[in-house]
Amino acid sequence: MRAILLGPPGAGKGTQAETIVKEFSIPHISTGDIFRQNIKQGTVLGKKAKEYMDQGLLVPDELTVELVKDRLLQDDCRNGFLLDGFPRTILQADALEDALKSMKQKLDFVVNIEVRKELLVERAVGRRVCSGCGQTYHMTFNKPKKEGICDNCGGELIQRKDDTEETVTKRINVYQEQTEPLIDYYTKKGIVINIDGEKPISEVGKDIVAKMRNK
Ligand code: ADP
Ligand code: AMP
Repeated sequence: MRAILLGPPGAGKGTQAETIVKEFSIPHISTGDIFRQNIKQGTVLGKKAKEYMDQGLLVPDELTVELVKDRLLQDDCRNGFLLDGFPRTILQADALEDALKSMKQKLDFVVNIEVRKELLVERAVGRRVCSGCGQTYHMTFNKPKKEGICDNCGGELIQRKDDTEETVTKRINVYQEQTEPLIDYYTKKGIVINIDGEKPISEVGKDIVAKMRNK
C-alpha cells in the first residue's frame, strides 16, 4: 500500500495516520515530524527549516524533496508507505512521481481529509503533542487521561510553536494557495478518496480503512 494523506493543517492527518499504518503495516513518513526532529537535534537542516516553520511558511522544495526521496529508498518502504504532509506543492508531487517511476512503483491512494476552515483553527490551537514520543492529543476532543501528561510514555505535553491562532491561519492560507491544487492533480489520476473529517476521530478512521479496502 502506497498512500498519501492530504488535507489542511488540523484536518487530522497525523491522528488518522496511526490507524492507517497499523491496518496496512506500513511506515508513517511525516515531513513535519522529520523537520521537528531535526530542530530538536539542532542539525543544519533543522535550523534552516525552523526559519520557515515558525512563520507558517513551507520549507523550500529543494530541502524537502531530497529528504523524502532518501527516506523512500530505505528498506522499510519496500512494501509501501504512508506519506503525511508531503507532497505540498506541484513541484513536490512531480518529484515524487519521478522518484516512484524510477523505483518501478506507483501510488495507490490519496486520502483527502476534508474539514471546513472554521473548525481547523480550534483543532490546531487545542492540539498538544508529547515531547517524548510525539503522540498527539486535543485539549477538548482527544484529552489525555491526566492533564498535561502523555498516556503512552508519561512525557510532558507541549503546544507546537506554529499552533498559535495567527500562524495556523497563515498555514491554512498557504495550504489553500500551494497545496489544494494537488487535489485536482491526483483526482485526474483517479486515485483520490475523499473523507469527511468532521466526524469523531474513530469514525473518520473507520471510513478511511473501509474506503481503502474496498477500492
Ligand atoms: P494534522 O496532522 O492534519 O495537522 P492532527 O492529526 O494533528 O492534524 O489533528 C489536529 C488536532 O485535531 C489534534 O489535536 C487532534 O487530536 C484533533 N483531531 C483530529 N481529528 C479530529 C476529529 N475527527 N475530531 C476532533 N478533533 C480531531
Ligand atoms: P505539519 O507537521 O505537516 O503540520 O508541518 C509543519 C510545518 O513543516 C509546515 O507548516 C511547513 O513549514 C513544514 N513542512 C512539512 N512538510 C512540508 C513539505 N512537504 N513542504 C514544505 N514544508 C513542509
